[in-house]
Formats: sequence, C-alpha cells, structure tokens
Amino acid sequence: MTKKDIIIIGAGMAGLTAAIYARRAGKSVLVLEGKIHGGQIINTLKVDNWPGDPGVSGPDLMNKIYHQVNNLGVEVEYDEVISIQKTAENGEFLVKIEDEEYSSGAIILAVGTEPRKLSEKQTKEAGKRPISYCATCDGALYKGKPVVVVGSGNTAKYEIKYLEGICSKVYHIHHDDPIPDEAVAVFAAIGRVPNTEFLKSLVKLDENGYIDAGENCETSCPGVFVAGDCRTKETRQLVTAAADGAVAANAAVQYLA
Ligand SMILES: Cc1cc2nc3c(=O)[nH]c(=O)nc-3n(C[C@H](O)[C@H](O)[C@H](O)COP(=O)(O)OP(=O)(O)OC[C@H]3O[C@@H](n4cnc5c(N)ncnc54)[C@H](O)[C@@H]3O)c2cc1C
Repeated sequence: MTKKDIIIIGAGMAGLTAAIYARRAGKSVLVLEGKIHGGQIINTLKVDNWPGDPGVSGPDLMNKIYHQVNNLGVEVEYDEVISIQKTAENGEFLVKIEDEEYSSGAIILAVGTEPRKLSEKQTKEAGKRPISYCATCDGALYKGKPVVVVGSGNTAKYEIKYLEGICSKVYHIHHDDPIPDEAVAVFAAIGRVPNTEFLKSLVKLDENGYIDAGENCETSCPGVFVAGDCRTKETRQLVTAAADGAVAANAAVQYLA
C-alpha cells in the first residue's frame, strides 16, 4: 500500500495550494482528484478578484498552478475517493478509491462544491433534453437554438448573458417553474452543494453539509484538515481557497511533528 505523510483530496485551488505548502515543508504528498485538476474555476474564461493576473482564464490559471505543483515533485492521481477511515491502532488514515487503498499520517479535505441538481419535477419535464450545469462548457452546442436557464442568482444571470450571445432565444425560469416546450436544452444554475456526502462518518458537517471548521481549518477529527469552498465560511472565492490551503497544510505539518 502506498504511504504518504499527507494525502490531499481534490486538485482545485485549495488542494493544489495545500500541496505546494506541504511539499515545500519537506513532506511526501499525494493529491487524489476525482475528475480533472483545476476544480470549478476551469469552467470560467475570465477570472475576477485574483490579484496580479486580472482577466486570466480559469484553465490557464489552474494549469500554471498544476505545473508548479508537479515541478515540486507532488504526485497527482486521478481517482475519486470513496471513503476515509482513521485506524484505531496507530491513528493513520486509510484512503479508499475504487480498487486501491492509500495510507497517510494526515489528511487535507479540499473537495469543493458541485452544482445543485434540478428538482425531480423539472428533470422529468426536461425528458430526453440535455441538462447542463455550465453554459461556457456546453453553450456552443446549441448555437442558434432556443434554450432555458433555471435559477435566480448571479450564476443564472451570468449564464443567461453568455447564452444570449450564442442561442436564438434564452428563456429564464425559476426553480420548479414549468420547462418551456420550445427549449432544446436546459441550463441549471440553482446554486452549489458541498461534495461531502462520503465524509459524514469522518468529520462533523454543518446543517448544509459543509465541513465544520473555522479559520484554523481543523475539523472535528484530529489529523484531518479542510480547505476551500467545502468548509463552513462566508466568502467562497479563489483567494480564500488558496489561503485555506496554506493554513491547512501548515496545520497538517505541525500535527505530524
Ligand atoms: C462559474 C464560476 C465562476 C467563478 N468565478 C470566480 C472568480 O472570478 N473569482 C474567484 O475568486 N472565484 C470564482 N469562483 C469561485 C471559485 O471557483 C471557488 O471559490 C474555488 O474554485 C474553490 O476552490 P476549491 O479548491 O475549494 O474547490 P473546487 O474548485 O470545487 O475543487 C474541488 C476539487 O475536488 C475534487 N473532488 C471532489 N470530491 C472528490 C472526491 N471524492 N475524490 C477526489 N476528488 C474530489 C473535484 O473534482 C474538484 O476538482 C467561480 C466559481 C464558478 C463556478
């Protein structure tokens, strides 16, 4: 079984920043990523509020950070983590992916959030029509065709503006309104939920499923730290995810010492 000092779950801004700090502190580090590295920001072509590189594209920014992590000798493996257990005998963590297990002395959870799924009613009404959660990714597939955006927040406004430049018509409806027959595809922008279902028995979650931790990034389980959007916090942005990554990594290094 592969053993590391620190295993980081998630290769978004929080996880990759944690990897930089942990590796530079001399620790062996493995990052496990269930999809592709970069996290949710790779769905946007223009990043705001990132100091020093105004307007950089999400994929460009995250690729630069990924290469920085790689050059430090951190392994990034592409596997979804299914469960994490703390062993009673030596306090080490067993991290399970589909057909393998890894072990480590400390864990950093940087699993972020994912789009909230459409209601059962709207999913049924959408029928065979595709449901997308990202206009930048899929909008071009419906060039010159009518689509519908579900949602009422800032993300929905952004998606509508983006799709208006591509599609013949963009219907705008709210959560649980009927889906117009004319629309050929449905874009859902109804908020995000934390990817924490598989962590319920490891750490304490708040009432919305976010990992309960303050600015020190310590969870209810000693040796498990949390960074980024999956943590209980007010401001979910790249800079706060990066800051958490640094704090969580330093805390993990101190825990191991
Ligand atoms: C469309 C959009 C535009 C945005 N624009 C901006 C902006 O301009 N400026 C700004 O500051 N912020 C912006 N944000 C917010 C910003 O993207 C987030 O705050 C930031 O990406 C959070 O980083 P994170 O590492 O915490 O989580 P994420 O980016 O969500 O990364 C989490 C990673 O963990 C992986 N993961 C989850 N579960 C598992 C598992 N079980 N096993 C393995 N891997 C797992 C995921 O696949 C993902 O790659 C935007 C967000 C969106 C959606």
